[in-house]
Amino acid sequence: MRHVLRFRRSREQNRLKSYIIAAWRLAAIIYPTADSVKAGERTRNVKALQKLFFWCALLAALTGLFYLRGDGADQASVDARTPVALLTGDGPVQTTMAEYLPFAVAAEMPASFGPEALKAQAVAARTFVLACRRHENADVCTESGCCLAYLDEQALHERWGGDFGKNMRAVRDAVAATDGEYLTYEGEAIQAAFHAGSIGATEDSAAIWSKLPYLVSVPSPETAENAPELITTSAVSPARLAAALGLEPAGDPAGWLGPAVLDEAGRVRTMTVLGKRFTGSTLRSLLGLRSTAFTAAWDGTGFLFTVSGYGHGVGMSQTGAMLYAAQGMLYRDILAHYYPGTELVRRAP
Ligand SMILES: [Zn+2]
Repeated sequence: MRHVLRFRRSREQNRLKSYIIAAWRLAAIIYPTADSVKAGERTRNVKALQKLFFWCALLAALTGLFYLRGDGADQASVDARTPVALLTGDGPVQTTMAEYLPFAVAAEMPASFGPEALKAQAVAARTFVLACRRHENADVCTESGCCLAYLDEQALHERWGGDFGKNMRAVRDAVAATDGEYLTYEGEAIQAAFHAGSIGATEDSAAIWSKLPYLVSVPSPETAENAPELITTSAVSPARLAAALGLEPAGDPAGWLGPAVLDEAGRVRTMTVLGKRFTGSTLRSLLGLRSTAFTAAWDGTGFLFTVSGYGHGVGMSQTGAMLYAAQGMLYRDILAHYYPGTELVRRAP
């Protein structure tokens, strides 16, 4: 690492040297000495000036190319200097936020969600990594059920096919545009939870984990009309329901379900099944429902669960971020909406 830095520094020095020499030559032409102010000298000076302009233009073009290639961006990047210990299936790997984050964002959000939604996702994912304390020997793992989803280049080629180049650029742009930025509450990186989508409102963290002042229920723009994919149904037979919940079937299934007790966000807090009380989260997990925002009805042969939203419902809704971005909202405002009271800061370079 050190020799790379030294190499970069010497390249910087060489560039600086070229600029100084060019400036000195220009000065010599613009301010000729009294002896050199002769017609011949002037012609020579004009020729020298033309030559100098040519080399300056070439140098500027090469410098531009150098920065476009990304080396220059890396030098200015906070993410490139933020180490990340990534726990993969093959063990911990040392990488950087700049190297890691695009592959997490690409795995977590469709690249088609638009630049501002992708930026909001990049900040949320970066914040998640900085606050993650789930592993002793790593900052974050590649399991979506534990930390953040992660897809390597090969998996993304398979997912995106011919759109790989375009999508990867969109994701990398979102990461670079938010370089080093993360969310804090009272100076600490927040638990930046996010989920696929909510209908109407997000969930309060207290309903699932513990209460956090910035993970409270807020309105979200998804409706059954603008996000119909977030409404799903699941048919569950009486036998499967009883088996999944570890209950003994008894009596007419029409009377098995008690009324749902809803929380402030309108999601199922508790529901009784065959006289036993379950939390909405437990029912969601045991029955494989997409969220705790569900209703259940007996249709004569089985139970029909109608589910709104996808995910735990806490923090930023990704579909909501996409809809807000489509309305022209900027990523900072999307983040401020879903994580109220937090501050967007940039790590010191
Ligand atoms: Zn993990």
